[in-house]
Amino acid sequence: MTEQPLTEQISTEQTHFGFETVAADEKAGKVMEVFSSVAYKYDIMNDVMSGGMHRLWKRSFIAKAVLPKGGRALDVAAGSGDIAIGLLNKVNRQASVVLTDLNGPMLHEGARRTLDEGLLPGIADCIQSDGTKLPFADNSFDLVTIAFGIRNFVDVPAGLAEFYRVLKPGGQFMCLEFSKPVLPMLDVIYDTYSFNVIPAMGEMITGDRDSYQYLVESIRRFPDQKRFEKWIKQAGFSLVRHDNMTGGVVAMHRGYKV
Ligand code: SAM
Repeated sequence: MTEQPLTEQISTEQTHFGFETVAADEKAGKVMEVFSSVAYKYDIMNDVMSGGMHRLWKRSFIAKAVLPKGGRALDVAAGSGDIAIGLLNKVNRQASVVLTDLNGPMLHEGARRTLDEGLLPGIADCIQSDGTKLPFADNSFDLVTIAFGIRNFVDVPAGLAEFYRVLKPGGQFMCLEFSKPVLPMLDVIYDTYSFNVIPAMGEMITGDRDSYQYLVESIRRFPDQKRFEKWIKQAGFSLVRHDNMTGGVVAMHRGYKV
C-alpha cells in the first residue's frame, strides 16, 4: 500500500478545498469566506445539523481535558467559544483560556458569548490568529485544544507543530474532529445524510448552500483516525490515542508533550 503524503497539499502550489483542487494560497481565503458567511447562524446550524449531538461530543471532550487550577489553556479555531466556556466552567473559572481564530466574525461570536458569561477580560481572552502561526512564546500553555477546526487548515502538520511548540512540557493536546465511521452501514447512512440533507439545510437556514457543501466535503477529505494519530506523533507528541464517538463519526485525539 502506498503511504499518503504527510500533508493535505497535493503539491506545494495546490491543495484541496472540499472536493475542489485550488491554489494553496487561495484556500485560506476561501475558508475565511465560508466562516464569515455562516458565523451569525453558526450555533443554530450546529444544533440543527447534528440534532444536538455536537453538545454531547463537546461535553465528553471537555470531560477528558486536563487543566490544572491556575493553569492556562489555548483553544485554537475557537469559533463561538463552546470549548473555552466549557473548560472554564469545568474548573470553576480557576484557570484562564485564550480563544484564537483566524476568522474575525467567528471570533466576534466567541467574544460576545464569553462576555455574556462574564469571562472577559482576564479569564478568557480573544486573539485573532492563524493556527499555523500562533503569536505565543514556546512552552506557554498547559492545555491546547482544537474542535472541528483543523480540517480547515491549509497545512495541518504546520498547525500540529505550532500546538506542540506552545505547549508546556507535560501539557496535553486534544483535538475533536469529524472522522471515519467504523460501524457497518453507518458510513452509507452518514454519507446519504451528509450529502443530501446538510447542504439543503444550510441553504434553508443560512441561505448559503455552498458553505455547507464545503463542510461535508472537507470532512471526507480529512484523514481517518489512525492516519491522523500518526500525524500527531510525527509532530512530536507522545502517548497519542484516539476515542471514537457516535461510531467514529467524530473522533477525539489526545497526546502529550513530554
Ligand atoms: N471550535 C468551534 C466549535 O467547535 O464550535 C468552531 C469550529 S468551526 C467548524 C471551525 C473554525 O475554524 C472556524 O471558526 C474557522 O474560522 C476556524 N479556522 C479555520 N482555519 C483556521 C486557521 N488556519 N487558524 C485558526 N482558525 C481557523
